[in-house]
Amino acid sequence: MERLRALPSIDELLARPSLSSLLSPHSRPVAVAALREAVASVRTRVLAGEDASLDEGDVATALKRVGQPKLKPVLNATGVVLHTNLGRAPLPVAAIERIAAIAGGYCNLELDLDEGERGSRYEPVVELLCALTGAEDAMVVNNCAAAVLLTFSALAHGREAIVSRGELVEIGGGFRIPDVMRQSGATLIEVGTTNRTRLADYAAQLSDRTGLLVKVHRSNFAIVGFSEEATTRELAELATGRGVPLFEDLGSGALRSLHADGLSSEPTVASVIAAGAHVVAFSADKLLGGPQAGLIVGKKATLDRLKQHPLNRALRIDKLTVAALEATLELYRDGREDEAIPTRALLLARPGVLLARAQKLSALLGAIPHRVVETAGRVGGGSMPLAAPKSWAVALSNVRATSLHEKLRAGDPPVIARIVDDEVWLDVRCLDDTSLDAVARAVRGD
Ligand SMILES: *Cc1c(COP(=O)(O)O)cnc(C)c1O
Repeated sequence: MERLRALPSIDELLARPSLSSLLSPHSRPVAVAALREAVASVRTRVLAGEDASLDEGDVATALKRVGQPKLKPVLNATGVVLHTNLGRAPLPVAAIERIAAIAGGYCNLELDLDEGERGSRYEPVVELLCALTGAEDAMVVNNCAAAVLLTFSALAHGREAIVSRGELVEIGGGFRIPDVMRQSGATLIEVGTTNRTRLADYAAQLSDRTGLLVKVHRSNFAIVGFSEEATTRELAELATGRGVPLFEDLGSGALRSLHADGLSSEPTVASVIAAGAHVVAFSADKLLGGPQAGLIVGKKATLDRLKQHPLNRALRIDKLTVAALEATLELYRDGREDEAIPTRALLLARPGVLLARAQKLSALLGAIPHRVVETAGRVGGGSMPLAAPKSWAVALSNVRATSLHEKLRAGDPPVIARIVDDEVWLDVRCLDDTSLDAVARAVRGD
């Protein structure tokens, strides 16, 4: 086609005098990427039958897009507090400040300042974790999936791990417990049925080949109705009597219980330790509300085996995680978790406060057709699957939901909403009052 052939080459465009003032402030890689994008967008329009040719406006638009960071803040109007696609837990201010204090310089990450010797990088949080959970010892790896992999590798490689059929779960992103076991070189011994597993089912399979008894907390799904499971306490007694460790993958792991209407109750890490589990793993960026990390607490002798395993080095955390985690755990130590940790504050937000916020957004939307509606939120991030905390949203009617949804997502800042029955719903739980203006602007399209 004539018009396609007439599209200029990148070299031609780089040399074109009329573009030089637009391009000159940018580095060559940015200029080239923007020109490629501008040419591609004109080509698409030509192929769609438009009478298009490349002009300065196309280049300016492309430069604006290409120069922007790819990872950027978004406004979460989904009402889902722990949204894995949106980065899970927003960090407490104290954690952000601690990262800022550490990130730009040197720190004593692996240096014991008292002894002048090499120390372990998670040392700063061991005492805090032990005090908060009642455990003898603690360590930290990259995320909870890594904690599971390390635990199986260190304790059950070449041996058998006994787990209930009701707990052979996928924990998100295609990460399945049976696959982890295979990866670690453990042999999986499944016991019980999907809905009912008794202590005797585990006991019948215990032998001198057993490396590990496993309990996986149902943090991202629920089995209701005719169901039965062995408790941590029963399993811990059985395991201890046979000289085998009990590992509990607690997943979303609450450090302190969370009480609010619509939230379900979660076992705290301390309760699982008190019940006798030898090793407990949980995420730091789910209900705990800190940075991404996998926390492992339990008996010292058992954790020593994990610390000595070569995977521990491969799964280690960086200094920014240590900084943020220590600051977050201090908030728990000081009893400030409900006001200072955003995840908990968002989950505990009172419906009256949320309604007032929805009404504020409604006022900002003015004549745009909408209603203020009550809605049930979700905790998200594989936590409290049955919880439905009450919230308030603004429902936008009279528009094509999918195109508005896309437009909001493409905005600056992007607004991530939910589609409910062909309407776009903006749940206000995770929007702070200062971001409502930006949301209203995005909806109006200005
Ligand atoms: C979420 C979850 C994991 C994985 O945790 P990450 O920190 O996302 O790696 C493991 N086990 C259970 C039970 C979970 O809920």
